[in-house]
Amino acid sequence: MAKAVPVRVRPWVPPSKKALCLSAFFYAKFLAGITRVDEFQQLREQRMRESTREFRARGKSVVRCEKCQLADFACICTWIHSQASAADFVVLMHRKEVFKPTNTGRFLAQLFPDNCRVFAWDRTQPDPQLLELLADPRRECLLVYPCEQPERQTSVHPTNEKRLTFILLDGTWKQSGRMFHLSEWLKTIKAVALPERRRRGYTVRQSHQENYLSTLEAAGVCLQLTGDERAGNYCLDFFDLFNQHYLATRGCYPPVPGELHAKLSGQLLNATSGAGATSD
Ligand SMILES: [Zn+2]
Repeated sequence: MAKAVPVRVRPWVPPSKKALCLSAFFYAKFLAGITRVDEFQQLREQRMRESTREFRARGKSVVRCEKCQLADFACICTWIHSQASAADFVVLMHRKEVFKPTNTGRFLAQLFPDNCRVFAWDRTQPDPQLLELLADPRRECLLVYPCEQPERQTSVHPTNEKRLTFILLDGTWKQSGRMFHLSEWLKTIKAVALPERRRRGYTVRQSHQENYLSTLEAAGVCLQLTGDERAGNYCLDFFDLFNQHYLATRGCYPPVPGELHAKLSGQLLNATSGAGATSD
């Protein structure tokens, strides 16, 4: 019979404070790495879970890219390249916008994931995180809307003291008006009207409003006003690209790569070598 070997049991020693601090640090780094998510996609998935009936976009027979929602042959994902911007954005999305392929606010969360928050608009029960953000004293929150009350109007003045944060109402012209007038919790935020950018405007949606800007276009103008020309131009060029490819999707023809594509590729190359850019 084999001789029994005595087993040495090491007494448990609690980890040192230093070891605990190091673990917490690396765990926080790990979480930071995985929490960089597309907030629009999260919102879309949430709405899909809540939705009792299937949303049918126009041209539903078209095979669409899951990410940009354009036809597979007109996908613009190649030109989506996350970057940093000099200002932050809060997209308040009307619930009807979430499934619309014509929506442009969704691209902001993809182009500037670290500088953009997306919330579903709710008249009476806004997200507590949104209210916290609006009340943050380190931010200068500005609502992008052509408000007619003089006491509420202001203009964009970038400073080093506060982080400029633009609140964008993401909906049709009519929906944006409702969101502006019915949100009591927005009443303390000053409003800025954007200058008219150009005649071309938003070709994929018809609007009776002469100076109607899409959400992505408005964000581009905001960035230009803050002095961040690089990010602002990228936004506006990407918006033009979206227009071209959306019309190609609607007309069922493959878009012809042109000057704009080359320009955006060039911008991406410059952005990749610049300090403000991050790659996906
Ligand atoms: Zn795509």
